[in-house]
Amino acid sequence: MNGRERDAQCLDEKMTDFINDRRIAGLLEMARPAATRVREVIAKSLEKQPLQVEETAVLLKAEAPELVEEIFAAARRLKRDVYGNRIVLFAPLYVGNECVNDCAYCGFKRSNREALRRTLDDAELRRQVEALEKRGHKRLILVFGEHPRYTPEFIARSVRLCYAVKVGRGEIRRVNINAAPMDHDGFRTIKEAGIGTYQVFQETYHHEIYARMHPRLTPKSDYLWRLNAMGRAQEAGIDDVGLGALFGLYDWRFEVLGLVTHARRLQERYGVGPHTISFPRLRPALGVRLNNEWAVSDYDFKRVIAILRLSVPYTGLILTAREEARLRREVMEFGVSQIDAGSRIELGGYTEAGDAQQMEREQFELGDIRSLDAVMRELIADGYIPSFCTACYRVGRTGKLFMEYAIPGFIQRYCTPNALSTLMEYLSDYASPETRAAGENLIAKEVAKLPAGDRKDQLQDRLNQIKHAGARDLYE
Ligand code: SAM
Ligand code: SF4
Repeated sequence: MNGRERDAQCLDEKMTDFINDRRIAGLLEMARPAATRVREVIAKSLEKQPLQVEETAVLLKAEAPELVEEIFAAARRLKRDVYGNRIVLFAPLYVGNECVNDCAYCGFKRSNREALRRTLDDAELRRQVEALEKRGHKRLILVFGEHPRYTPEFIARSVRLCYAVKVGRGEIRRVNINAAPMDHDGFRTIKEAGIGTYQVFQETYHHEIYARMHPRLTPKSDYLWRLNAMGRAQEAGIDDVGLGALFGLYDWRFEVLGLVTHARRLQERYGVGPHTISFPRLRPALGVRLNNEWAVSDYDFKRVIAILRLSVPYTGLILTAREEARLRREVMEFGVSQIDAGSRIELGGYTEAGDAQQMEREQFELGDIRSLDAVMRELIADGYIPSFCTACYRVGRTGKLFMEYAIPGFIQRYCTPNALSTLMEYLSDYASPETRAAGENLIAKEVAKLPAGDRKDQLQDRLNQIKHAGARDLYE
């Protein structure tokens, strides 16, 4: 009996297909909404209320440039109100690219004979984590192909190994996972290893395109097993889950409605929406030839981000280094709350960089390969607070609790001070002199903005302890 069969027996309800292609297509065919209706939906969203799928469709159908500008302005405002000016930073770490699937868009697909297949052994993984810690990273996402070797136990072991690596004052405080869907037992196993978010992308919500991208008889061809993965994760106790779609496989508007339907489903059934949503755009990859009928322009990509921001106010939005630096900088303000920086996606890439031939053979090409320090410096210059904070997860403010706290402005109360403390750690331990000077200046300005009182005094005290007394990992 395989995982799917075993699991079907212990589910009180069979896996459900809550994505109705015809309904989504119908919403996208509706007449262009009146400007007043678009403004009503924007106003609801500015009240920080999650939108219904039909309401998201109204925003997607708003095409007049002045209405799109209003959507952009609202997304900027909502982002400021909910998340402040923090941007959380993380690094992807590819553990193994063996893969039994044959996804049409991916350089790791099994039919790609030119891909260099590799799985990091313990010593290699440790070296990658050491290299990341030495640069100042505190949050990782471990990425795996789908292969019988990459069992939940194997993944759990990798997670534990990452947490155990400590170099100088460095440590990894949150390990997220991007790996193939598991059964309940599998999810319990990785939960016990202390994972943060479990992330898996549906790639496309459109059934027919999904079938075309994922050949029959490969595990990933099972649309429903993937669609219901987040539910199984929730049932197994993982309450921070990350959704995503790969933009460029089909109509971007359809995918946005698929994501919002999925988010609402989780909210309704488990009382907690997704912790994050990712919206990678398809990148060139070796051995991959797809026509770009559904390529998403930069302008439409901004609409994706702004409309998602307005639709799911409390869900973090992740923008990856697949995008180029210039565009990353531009779209950040529309609602992005997390980015990766200093990323390398070739196996072993944090210590063995420079092999152009190997880089060419990777899963896809990155658009932004600047160092973490360079990204930090730019964020600071643009007035963002780069954050490595992991406090909520460490004190159990996850899932439903995170949502409840987030709603009454909790994020600004805790997150800004915690972001400043982790920034001070970075500046003291890892930053170049220019980044350090700019960062200390930013911290002083941000502290000055806080209202006088105990909280401000406590934060100032923590910052002094970090900067002058070598204290680390202070948060509230
Ligand atoms: N193997 C697991 C899976 O497929 O879910 C997880 C790892 S996979 C390496 C992570 C993600 O990379 C995929 O979900 C897909 O969205 C993305 N990806 C694959 N090929 C890509 C490409 N050519 N451009 C951009 N993203 C791509
Ligand atoms: Fe394998 Fe994931 Fe790439 Fe598909 S997207 S070929 S499952 S690594």
